[in-house]
Amino acid sequence: MLLHIGIDDTDSISGGCTTHIAALLVERLLSLGGRFVEYPHLLRLNPNVPWKTRGNGAICLRVEVDPGVEGLIRKAVLDLVESQSDFECENTNPGVVFHTGEIPDSMIDFSERVVGSVVNLEEALSLVDEHGGSAVGYKNMRGIIGALAAVGGLQRGDHTFECLAYRAPENWGRPRSLDADSVRRMDEATEGSTFNNVDPGSGRVLIAPHGPDPVFFGIRGETPEAVHRAAMLVEPGEPIERWVVFRSNQGTDAHLQRKVRLSELEPYRPVIVDGEVSGRPRTIRGGHVIFPLGDETGSVDCAAYEPTGGFRGVVRRLMSGDGVRVYGGVRELGGGRRTLNLEKLEVLRLAPDVRHVNPSCPGCGGGMESMGRGKGFRCRRCGFRDGQLRKLAVEEERSLELGLYVTPPKAQRHLTKPLARYGREKEYVPGELYEPWHWP
Ligand SMILES: [Zn+2]
Repeated sequence: MLLHIGIDDTDSISGGCTTHIAALLVERLLSLGGRFVEYPHLLRLNPNVPWKTRGNGAICLRVEVDPGVEGLIRKAVLDLVESQSDFECENTNPGVVFHTGEIPDSMIDFSERVVGSVVNLEEALSLVDEHGGSAVGYKNMRGIIGALAAVGGLQRGDHTFECLAYRAPENWGRPRSLDADSVRRMDEATEGSTFNNVDPGSGRVLIAPHGPDPVFFGIRGETPEAVHRAAMLVEPGEPIERWVVFRSNQGTDAHLQRKVRLSELEPYRPVIVDGEVSGRPRTIRGGHVIFPLGDETGSVDCAAYEPTGGFRGVVRRLMSGDGVRVYGGVRELGGGRRTLNLEKLEVLRLAPDVRHVNPSCPGCGGGMESMGRGKGFRCRRCGFRDGQLRKLAVEEERSLELGLYVTPPKAQRHLTKPLARYGREKEYVPGELYEPWHWP
């Protein structure tokens, strides 16, 4: 029988990691005679929901098993989730979903909505029931939503891979020892087949997290072979306990699929909006840059936050009247006010930058000054006066070009498609699984 196991929301700010539970489960399932029909899936969910833990990633394992061991497998899964989850954290609400057989369309649809919007628990529970699956939730059980989304997330469209390497438990919580130069060399050697290893602007290594979780580093790329090869090029300064290659919706813009008008903005939704810049961008305290965007249905403030670095320079060069397409998440501020947190910006149309300047003197060419509104100009040098002269409109060249601008890798969401991936989008073709699964 084909068994799908979805797990979500076991981690917290202070530790744990749902992908690590997946890595341990891979070994357990293999030892119980399971045969994987797919890479383990790492599905990133809507990054704009405020109740997420860290990366908002759910996992699904899809495995052919002997019906005789199904009970053992279910128990192994729940034992692992119960022993590895951080139950202390208020925001950690683990969920597990088991489903057997084909994935119905309604689950695929559900999964897409969890990635791109907000879905409630009741809907998840009734969907599991309807198709004869089972769900186990802990605490407020919200993890069932992500667990079911992972089960339904077949990722038949664009997708990427990540090789995640884990630390030995005795090192959890200690600083990670990783040779940064080897990461930069790996980045160069695998250019085009991996992405977001190093932030190009700051040179900062991006493959390793900084928290107390078991992840040592993760390398993202286009094929399982590429991410595995890249991981082997990194020189670790501490033992790697195990590693797993996941197939993922990371770096695909899977969340940015909904094009809406400004009157349709809803809290926490990732959206794409076409509109016109309706005022001058301003830099506020903390270095964030804000500009007002309007369309025929409403207006909203768009924000490029300080960590987006050089992206803010692009936003500052916008002018009233520019036509733009913005990509981002709706943030709810107090009092019903909202901002759109920018991930990407496409400049579609540049308004002319017209400055009105004083004319120069027709007699001597010197500078002129106004004699009052509508009263003409007087030459400062020779004294020539002309009551009919008016300011001249001069069009300045814009310092901004049409095109797509994306926040730098260091500021990107897991789901954001980086510039380097444009043109590399792919469909999923089921094929051979790349062995070995894990190390050693
Ligand atoms: Zn003059």
